[in-house]
Amino acid sequence: MDTLASNEYVAQDYKSDLKPVWCPGCGDYSVIASITKALAELQLVPEEVAFVSGIGCSSRIPAYSSVYGFHGVHGRALPIATGLKMARQDLTVLVAGGDGDGFSIGGNHFMHACRRNVDLTYIVMDNSVYGMTKGQASPTTEADWGGSKLTPNGTGLLPFQPLEIALSAGASFIGRAFSGQPGELTRQICEGIHHKGFSFIHVLSPCVTYRPEQRAYKDRVHQEWQPTADRTEAFRKLLDDDGFSTGILYKGTKPAFVPETAERASFAEIEAQFAV
Ligand code: SF4
Repeated sequence: MDTLASNEYVAQDYKSDLKPVWCPGCGDYSVIASITKALAELQLVPEEVAFVSGIGCSSRIPAYSSVYGFHGVHGRALPIATGLKMARQDLTVLVAGGDGDGFSIGGNHFMHACRRNVDLTYIVMDNSVYGMTKGQASPTTEADWGGSKLTPNGTGLLPFQPLEIALSAGASFIGRAFSGQPGELTRQICEGIHHKGFSFIHVLSPCVTYRPEQRAYKDRVHQEWQPTADRTEAFRKLLDDDGFSTGILYKGTKPAFVPETAERASFAEIEAQFAV
């Protein structure tokens, strides 16, 4: 990818003129600020970056950035992004969404994107609630959270564990950051973009409207992880994880899937690579 001279772009160059409609105090403000800062640090040419999202509060991010964007349908951001990257290997492809979009209806795509290891950077803003539809339990909601009239006594279900799933399924880069620590988040986004393969960055991003207690995340997060290429070690670290450890957990060496030619790229070709 061509890049222009150092410091030619600043974060503002990657922002659109649209004013975000997120609630005041929403963690997603800090996430888009970190993303645009990372793009500026990497001096990526805006026309060579594409942002794909699904549906939800956080999935509005492509509209708020000036790079190419595609606001897709619920849970389908990853297949759209995979197809784009297959056809346009020259683009830096970022994917954004939330826990409902990515881990419920999109959960199947999440696992297979990890397994395929196409060179994408997937940023999930997890607030353990469906914010856009006014506060229902999501896959990562605690079993006993009774904040929704639909589940006044909680769901009683074990929360989905995104990092364990990503590591099991074969993601080659896994990190967790907190929206309230934008420096660390920016660093992880830069590293995720640099990494050749599927990068999953799990962002604790409070929904201050439907989960106001998440304001306390700032007192609970703790920088814990240094990257390892040893999956067993990464799994061991997750056994001790309280859900608030941050850092890059795993950075593997599995090569990214790259089609021989853009014309020949297809899901069948990708799947054939993993056939037994
Ligand atoms: Fe953010 Fe929650 Fe408001 Fe959505 S509902 S914009 S996640 S604070």
